[in-house]
Amino acid sequence: MTTCYFAQAELDSAITISAELLRHDEIVAFPTETVYGLGARIFSEAAIRKVYSAKGRPSDNPLIAHIATIEQAGEIAIEIPDEFYLLAEHFFPGPLTIVLNRHPDVPAIVSAGLDSIAVRMPQHPIALALIKAVGQPLVAPSANLSGKPSPTTAQHVLDDLGGKIAAIIDGGKCVVGIESTVLNICTSIPTILRPGAVTREQIETVLSRKIDIQSTASPNIPIAPGMKYRHYAPSATIRIVSTWDEIQQITNNATLSNILILANSIPDFQINAILHPLLAESLYAEFRRADADNFTEIVILCDNTIIQDSALMNRITKAASKS
Ligand code: AMP
Ligand code: MG
Repeated sequence: MTTCYFAQAELDSAITISAELLRHDEIVAFPTETVYGLGARIFSEAAIRKVYSAKGRPSDNPLIAHIATIEQAGEIAIEIPDEFYLLAEHFFPGPLTIVLNRHPDVPAIVSAGLDSIAVRMPQHPIALALIKAVGQPLVAPSANLSGKPSPTTAQHVLDDLGGKIAAIIDGGKCVVGIESTVLNICTSIPTILRPGAVTREQIETVLSRKIDIQSTASPNIPIAPGMKYRHYAPSATIRIVSTWDEIQQITNNATLSNILILANSIPDFQINAILHPLLAESLYAEFRRADADNFTEIVILCDNTIIQDSALMNRITKAASKS
């Protein structure tokens, strides 16, 4: 299959043609503020199957539904609690996914057989325009091959899925760069299943009550089956350190050209290694480049400001664990 690539200047025709492709059960990658998504019509089982197959995604890893209006939540979920609307008022459109009870019209394959459905409204004009043009919610898992980092540029999508999907709309770099916060509100105490840019504290302030965070120590809890899969880990060994002293020792004892250092500050000593900024929005791009350039080690400086960012730390520690 030839993948149709729409450059940033071709926005109007990109939306019109992509919406037509989606209506015909094709799958199309598009930008969101978090990462690029691989879109398919939520009510088309044929299209949903193409998503799982193009990504090589295990069929028990559920997909997130993307909506452009709050009314569309009612087309895909039932018994929606008031807290959903409260959260939507504060965080939609934005990087928060909310798990609700699935509407019987939504094919079970979307949620990997679960009775629930994860819903989010992306904050990207192209994503919103595309969903509106199709006229119904789209599922949109990250547009990468399973086992690769989520794509944050159109080139990443082409590298992984070129030739396997009908089209890709280039919307430039994703501004958030890591996947949405996933919050389950079907339980008596709302629970964060995946940390993201919307924080626990922000959610607790809006709901005026304490919420839980699912421990990564018990990843097999069935409510979030996708969480059990091994997250992307670059081929390079990742070392998490907390001081420049540790980096100095590592670089003193190594072949410098093979080490990539990610840090949000610069050292006060001469360093003879490749140093890139540590930012959520470029983390996955750094991992992809480290593999492409055959780095053997990635040293990540996690100082106090980084440690306080639970979403970023979650992605770093997952990438560092080889299991
Ligand atoms: P991705 O779209 O690749 O960022 O992955 C979506 C993730 O959202 C899955 O791996 C699950 O962890 C989570 N998710 C999606 N749907 C549900 C659901 N119905 N219940 C719980 N978690 C979900
Ligand atoms: Mg993904």
